[in-house]
Amino acid sequence: MCGIIGYIGEKKASPILINGLLCLEYRGYDSAGIATLEKDGITVKKDKGRVKNLYNLEGIDSLEGTVGIAHTRWATHGKPSMENAHPHLDNSSTFAVVHNGIIENYSELRDFLTEKGYHFLSQTDTEVIPNLIHYYFSQDSKKDDDQLLRAVKSTCDDLKGSYAIEVISPLFPDRIIVVRKDSPLVIGTCKKENHIASDIPAVLAFTKNFYLLNDQEYAVVYKNRIRFFDASLVEHTKAINNIEWDAAAAEKDGFEDYMLKEIYEQPNAIRETIGSRFRLGEKCSFDDINLTKEYLSSLDKIYFVACGTAMHAGLIAKNVVEKLCRIPCEVEVASEFRYRDPIIDEKTLCIFISQSGETADTIAALKLAKQKGCKTLTITNVIGSSITREADYTIYTHAGPEIAVASTKAYTSQIVLLIILAMHFAEILNSYPEEKIEKLKADILDIPSKIETILDNVDEIKAFAKKVYTQKDMFFLGRGMDYAVSMEGSLKLKEISYIHSEAYAAGELKHGPIALIENGVTVIGVITDPKLVEKSISNMQEIITRGAYTLVVTNQVLPNVHFNSVINIPETDPLLSSLLSIVPLQCLSYYISKNKGLDVDKPRNLAKSVTVE
Ligand code: GLU
Repeated sequence: MCGIIGYIGEKKASPILINGLLCLEYRGYDSAGIATLEKDGITVKKDKGRVKNLYNLEGIDSLEGTVGIAHTRWATHGKPSMENAHPHLDNSSTFAVVHNGIIENYSELRDFLTEKGYHFLSQTDTEVIPNLIHYYFSQDSKKDDDQLLRAVKSTCDDLKGSYAIEVISPLFPDRIIVVRKDSPLVIGTCKKENHIASDIPAVLAFTKNFYLLNDQEYAVVYKNRIRFFDASLVEHTKAINNIEWDAAAAEKDGFEDYMLKEIYEQPNAIRETIGSRFRLGEKCSFDDINLTKEYLSSLDKIYFVACGTAMHAGLIAKNVVEKLCRIPCEVEVASEFRYRDPIIDEKTLCIFISQSGETADTIAALKLAKQKGCKTLTITNVIGSSITREADYTIYTHAGPEIAVASTKAYTSQIVLLIILAMHFAEILNSYPEEKIEKLKADILDIPSKIETILDNVDEIKAFAKKVYTQKDMFFLGRGMDYAVSMEGSLKLKEISYIHSEAYAAGELKHGPIALIENGVTVIGVITDPKLVEKSISNMQEIITRGAYTLVVTNQVLPNVHFNSVINIPETDPLLSSLLSIVPLQCLSYYISKNKGLDVDKPRNLAKSVTVE
């Protein structure tokens, strides 16, 4: 998530750092900051808002330091504010740190440090890092050249979660120490200077020679050399990579479009969203919402209210919550809900889902629910967004900034968070067998690698896209949760390929729409629920008989029916299968759109966050 930049050389660092941040701004931002080593120690300049605001900060022009670190933040812990912006210092202002990622065990570490007398100025998870470095640095009696490196290493040994970190200190003014785990970091190297960045484009203007840091690899970066160390601080040499990308391609990490990049980011987005919400053998943790057993037992209804793709995540949530908690659920689009005088009161919990947290209809619907006395809970991807200021409770997906207009990783992250929330309610209510919840947790942990397997095998999807991209209409069929996934698959196709498509509950087809099936019409079936396989197959058979051209996404062994194409996906608990079956459908829309030569990331007439009614 977001970006970090570092510079060490002979030039003034601050303009190079700010320019680098501007190149990273596409990754999402809510605040930015830099720290440089000046004659009298570390100077930090930071603020909330866009990177270009840094140019207006008092004293920014008088920074002379030739060593510095910089950060553009996409908040995960603590609202966007000056205090929470990076860089962060330890209490003695000896160590400055920027960090991308999430420290899952930060509250434990904060307690530990508080006990040792440290205090905290921000609400971030990050601020534990400079203070832990200070703690380990002062514990180390061996005062040699690698003392700072050892302190950083001991700190990282304590961290759970993901991080890319840069550290500077006036005690070691000739170096920047960097390390990464599950967050990106590269080092671009030139004569007499080195550049550090979250990704290659920010530095491509200076060099094409890069070191790509591995997970848990440390680098001590000087202006004219770099030393590399493994996770146990054993020093090693490292090969240089010559990068031939142009800057635009590199921003997308080598992917052709943001949408494709974001489809491939889903395994990690899900891992981050699961975060520390649960571990095997432990109950789910939602300290941020504290809904009691009395309250949950008093509910006669849960409403999921959202728009577009987020509403489709709500459809999955309805199925899962009803199964696990036996509380009746309803799903409604926000633009209808808000004008409809819905029957809701203090016995209704209303859950609002919005990637951006700025969706106008969803915010208006939330205000209405509050007026009617409901408790309101919101699920969003953007810390401090408008909806979080209105809701009683907010829980965050950690999908990272989503740039493509058509949502992919935000959708699967919303589903995963909603499923964990359902398990949490079930644990409070005792409404679902403990061992089944435990099994579900294990299956959730396997989802990211199963998505990776799907994404490693997209040739069949690509070939199907090539065959059908000139079609004018398509149909998506499914039953139960497969129907909800079909709706999302159909929406993706409309959004980015401009092909008309409809999703139908498979059993409903013969009550009208089957009249539209004729020779060559494309029909896509989603079949993952073992209880409904036979029924769905019969429906597919009906349309094959009428000449349809078919693709089936399934994790079941299907009887001998002639489909034109079958995409096999890994098996999982039926409650989770939407997280897998949607992936081939996202890829299908993507490749159809590419075949048509369209702008996948910016489809016509659509905006990323819909702040109008
Ligand atoms: N978790 C950190 C914060 O909220 C870093 C977020 C980021 O990657 O920008 O401050």
